[in-house]
Amino acid sequence: MPEVYNWHLGRKMAYVFGEAHPQKQFAAVFNINRCIGCQTCTGACKATWTFSKGQEAMWWNNVESKPYGGFPQHWDIKILQMLDEAHQAAGKKAEWDTTQTNDTAPYGVYNGMTITEAAAAEQQALGYIPPDTEWRAPLFYEDTSTHYKGDDKIGISTEGASLPEHQTWFFYLQRLCNHCTYPACAAACPRKAIYKRQEDGIVLIDQARCRGYRKCVEQCPYKKSMYRGTTRTSEKCVACYPRVEGNDPLSDGVPMETRCMAVCPGKIRMNGLVDIAEDGSWAENPKHPLYFMIKMEKVALPLYPQFGTEPNIYYIPPRWAPRAYLRQMFGPGVDEAIARYIAPSRELLAVLQLFRTTQKMIFRYEIEEGPLALETEVNGQPWKMYNDTVIGFDAKDREVTRLTVVEPIYERPMERLNSI
Ligand code: SF4
Ligand code: SF4
Ligand code: SF4
Repeated sequence: MPEVYNWHLGRKMAYVFGEAHPQKQFAAVFNINRCIGCQTCTGACKATWTFSKGQEAMWWNNVESKPYGGFPQHWDIKILQMLDEAHQAAGKKAEWDTTQTNDTAPYGVYNGMTITEAAAAEQQALGYIPPDTEWRAPLFYEDTSTHYKGDDKIGISTEGASLPEHQTWFFYLQRLCNHCTYPACAAACPRKAIYKRQEDGIVLIDQARCRGYRKCVEQCPYKKSMYRGTTRTSEKCVACYPRVEGNDPLSDGVPMETRCMAVCPGKIRMNGLVDIAEDGSWAENPKHPLYFMIKMEKVALPLYPQFGTEPNIYYIPPRWAPRAYLRQMFGPGVDEAIARYIAPSRELLAVLQLFRTTQKMIFRYEIEEGPLALETEVNGQPWKMYNDTVIGFDAKDREVTRLTVVEPIYERPMERLNSI
C-alpha cells in the first residue's frame, strides 16, 4: 500500500491511493463553546438536500450530545473499541509523542495505528455497517449530562460547577462529512464511485457509478456516508457545492458558505477554502481566518485525528468537559487550544468576531487597531481587550464584513422603541 503524509499525525501512513492533492480544500472551524443545540443547521441541510422518499433517516448534518448521544448510535465508541482491540491484538499502544512539535507535526507524532493500518488484510480500513435501529434516533440521549454526585434524586446539582472541569457535563458535537484529505469512503469503494474534486477537495459519490455495496458506509469512521433504500445507492453531504462554486443566485459569483454553516444562529461556524501546496500541506496564508486559527493559533483541532483520514472540519473544544475525554476526541492539542481560547490573543479575539457575519466565504482579513477597552485578569494572568475593527474580504478581495470587538450600542428614538 502507498504511503502518504498526514500532518495531523505528524508522520507518513499507509493509504490505498498515493499522494494527489486538490488546489484548494473545503474546510471549517466549529466553536463548540457557542453551540446552543438548536438544530437549525440540521433542518437547513434536510430542507435543501434530503427531503425525499428514502431519505427519512438521512441527516447529513447532525448535532449530537456528548458523551452519550451519537448518530448513528454509539458510532465513535464502536470504532474506538475496534481500534483498541486491534492495538491489543498487535501488542501496540495508541500513544502520541508530544515531545517535539513543528509545522509538519503540530500536535506531535501519533505512534498508534490508524483505521487503515489496523485493518485485517482483506479490508481497506476498520469499520462496520450500523443496523437500521442505530440510524432511527438522531437525537438519542439529547441534552443528557453525566450524573450528579451526591443527592441527585431530582436531578439538580447542589454542588455548583467551575472551570477548568465540570463534574457534571455534556456538550454538543456538530457533525457533517469531513471532506477528508484521505477519505476512507473513497478508499473502500470497489466501483471507484467516490472522488475528491481537484478544485476544492469536496468528496462526492457519483450516483451513476454507485451500486450500493455500502463499503463506504462500512469504512467511513465518522459514519457520514448513508445508504438510501429507494435508489439503492449511498449518499453523503455534498458540501453544498453549487454555493461553494459561487453559483447560488445570492453569491455574486464568489464562493459562499454552505447552508448548514450560513444559517447558524449560535454563530459557531466559519467555512472557507484554504490553499493547498503540491505536497498536500496548507500553503502559508497567515491572514486567512481558517489558516490563522488552525495552523497559527492552533485553537481549533481535528475530530478523532487518530482515525487517520485527515478530516477538514476543525473544532474549538468545549472549556468545561474533562480533558482526558477531549484529548481522546481531538488529540493532544486540547490543553493548548483551550488555554488560547480562554485568554485569546489580540488578533484571535478580532478574528473570532468574523463568524457568521456574512454568507460569503472570507479569504482574507485585516485588523485596524482600536483603543484599550478592558484590562483584567484571566486565570491569574493579566489580560487586555482592545476595541479593534476586523474586516473580511471575499474571493475577489472585496470587503464583505466589518465589525468591532466591542459590540456597538444603538439607542432607538423614544417614539419608536419597539421597531427595528
Ligand atoms: S467523513 Fe467519511 S464520508 Fe466524509 S470524506 Fe471522510 S471518510 Fe468520506
Ligand atoms: S455542507 Fe450542505 S450538504 Fe453538507 S451537511 Fe451542510 S448543508 Fe448539508
Ligand atoms: S445551527 Fe449552530 S448553534 Fe444551532 S445546533 Fe447547529 S451549529 Fe449549533
